[in-house]
Amino acid sequence: ERLPEGDAAIRATDSDAALARLSAVRKGYLTDPYIAPFVSRPHVQQPRPPLINIGTYVRSEALDELVNGWLALCETEGTKCQIVSMGAGSDTRFWRIATGDRKDLLAKYIELDFAEITTKKAMAIRKNRDLSAALGKPEDVSLANGGTALHSPVYHLLAADLRKPPAESLAPLLTSPNDPLLSPSLPTLLLFECVLVYMSPEASQNILQWFTDYFAGGSGVLGCIVYEMFALEDSFGKVMVNNLKARNVTLPGAQPYPTFDTLPNRFLQHGWDIARALTLKDIRRGYIEPAELERISRLEMLDEIEELELVLAHYAITWGCKLPANSAELKAQW
Ligand code: SAM
Repeated sequence: ERLPEGDAAIRATDSDAALARLSAVRKGYLTDPYIAPFVSRPHVQQPRPPLINIGTYVRSEALDELVNGWLALCETEGTKCQIVSMGAGSDTRFWRIATGDRKDLLAKYIELDFAEITTKKAMAIRKNRDLSAALGKPEDVSLANGGTALHSPVYHLLAADLRKPPAESLAPLLTSPNDPLLSPSLPTLLLFECVLVYMSPEASQNILQWFTDYFAGGSGVLGCIVYEMFALEDSFGKVMVNNLKARNVTLPGAQPYPTFDTLPNRFLQHGWDIARALTLKDIRRGYIEPAELERISRLEMLDEIEELELVLAHYAITWGCKLPANSAELKAQW
């Protein structure tokens, strides 16, 4: 069997992420009723190794915590917000928020990915009653651009190659279908979950600069969460790659951001006010309730905590925000 190459290999990482999530859900690490419809032939899929399940769990919990924290801040401020997810793949976050307590806070939830992925996702949504129902009345939901885009009152799915200049790739955020799709005056959260690694540092910087400029005159806070692997070239990184290879887990051909210490520069170099980063290792050790750690430790046997920590130390979540002029409120809270 020939493995996909180039962009097809990058797109294939979406199925890997979705399968990892399905596996973590089935093993009891996570709850997510929306992932199975996005996986092809979910009933025949094998579970992933415990190490992958735990990694998926820690990453997912940490991102949920940050996104929920963001929504809670908007709730306190009494404002709706927008979320834009870049390289969203088969992510189910929209449905989890849209069926939760804070659904009324969402003004817009926009997902971008390659056209092949958005077409597949749009079809999966149309085919599944639960996924469709969360979008609103059927007459308010429409496919566009030859089936590569989907629009509904809150949720929008758009095709884009994020390596292209943002003036081109992000143009749909300004034009369709109500003008502009993305309001510069609402608090807006950008999500890059395991996607920046597939583009050059320049392309990532251009995207962040585009959003920074777009919101510069607006009244809303601009927030961002990035999840990525980093520093795979160090000695621990090499051990990790070999360990994974020995288990037939291959890492996507990636060019990671240099080191942990430089991660906040992603935001600071654009003049943002807050930037923080934590590795998944730190998050597992310091931010997950002991009772919860105890619960997941009973789900599967994992003999090598050391190996787990070695792997988790190479993944980080970086988050930050740019405050509108004359606002210092959010600084201490997120
Ligand atoms: N964010 C999802 C998650 O965490 O479950 C999916 C992550 S998956 C590892 C990476 C996703 O980024 C894939 O869906 C891929 O198609 C998308 N992607 C990578 N490079 C991209 C680009 N240049 N433009 C648009 N999407 C891209």
